Amino acid sequence: MRLNITVLPGDGVGSEVTREAVRVLRTVLDLYGYEVSFEEHAIGGVAIRQFGTPLPDETKHACTNSHAVLLGAVGGPEFDSLPPGQRPESGLLALRQALGGFANLRPAIAYAAIADCSPLRPDVLKGADILFVRELLGGIYFGEPRGFDASGAAAHNTMRYSETEIERVAHVAFRQARMRHRKVTSVDKANVLETSQLWRKTVTRVAREYPEIRLDHMYVDACAMRLITHPGSFDVVVTENLFGDILSDEAAVISGSLGMLASATIGGKVDLYEPVHGSAPDIAGRGIANPLGAIASAAMLLRHSAGLEQGAQDVEDAIREVLDKGFRTADLSPQHSADPQRGRTKRVVSTAEMGALVESTVADVVDRRRAYHAV
Ligand code: NAD
Repeated sequence: MRLNITVLPGDGVGSEVTREAVRVLRTVLDLYGYEVSFEEHAIGGVAIRQFGTPLPDETKHACTNSHAVLLGAVGGPEFDSLPPGQRPESGLLALRQALGGFANLRPAIAYAAIADCSPLRPDVLKGADILFVRELLGGIYFGEPRGFDASGAAAHNTMRYSETEIERVAHVAFRQARMRHRKVTSVDKANVLETSQLWRKTVTRVAREYPEIRLDHMYVDACAMRLITHPGSFDVVVTENLFGDILSDEAAVISGSLGMLASATIGGKVDLYEPVHGSAPDIAGRGIANPLGAIASAAMLLRHSAGLEQGAQDVEDAIREVLDKGFRTADLSPQHSADPQRGRTKRVVSTAEMGALVESTVADVVDRRRAYHAV
């Protein structure tokens, strides 16, 4: 198979972390006999400087004509004074719209080796591995009518969902659960909202097509609490746009650092993969950013756009192994950890060193598995 991937490094640490993600992707795809071409294009502040716009036509065209898009991050303080529609972030919003993905996938994983970086107790975190599937194109962020009343003293927004919008994201969640622990938690506020009643009824109907998956329903307020008290009790969580935005950020504390978090936006013309963090101008250019969120996003690309589930798992295993061996980027180092005593035995590495460690470890993981199956 031949894969054509558009890489949009963007601003700040975006280029530093995508470099490492591309390095790992190249190695894994090579190990699996895939031919791959990476084409780099400008987005965000870099594109404003070069082309006067945050999403040049050339970039948009390259993205819509590739198999997958891998993005770093956009934004920076020098662009904060620009009007909202001309800022780097508007380029990313326009790209997401052009690609049309309706399901945002965000894993929240408690890596045992860095449990001390999370504010939650290790015994609470144990085994937590959640996949959020957030509906991305509907709900209150897009519903009409919206706006301020003529007086300016009152405002309104509209939460609206159709069965079709709910069905398609529910299917994504059930299919993901099939490859995981076969459990879906659908989150709503059906005791108060009609949109949530429709949500619950529709998800329940879709579930009949997946008899092997266990479905439960949870109110969003109860879910917010349970994510912190029993994160290990979830597998796949599917929910609407606003609830998903808030809950997936809340669950980010499970992983211990913003730099660890990956995401994929799927279901549109072309799927988009990006770490959750921004351009981190406070650490950009110093070679200390954590590339694991970008590398984990690349693993999601292998899973969803390349059909390489095993390759994705190899990368995820390699990330775990590198952390287990005690390697840390600065954000996971002692001064950031809740238990500095434990952190002191670790070795702090640069962005590029972390990328190289995952790259060599993934090659080992693949070799070991192949040797095991050969005997
Ligand atoms: P941020 O995510 O860039 O940084 C928040 C904090 O997390 C900072 O202290 C930063 O150093 C740290 N951090 C982020 N990524 C890290 C990594 N990989 N390794 C280690 N530490 C990391 O959020 P912010 O400071 O609010 O925003 C900075 C800029 O990024 C703004 O212009 C914002 O609009 C933009 N932004 C872009 C995206 C995106 O491109 N998807 C997302 C969020 C923010």
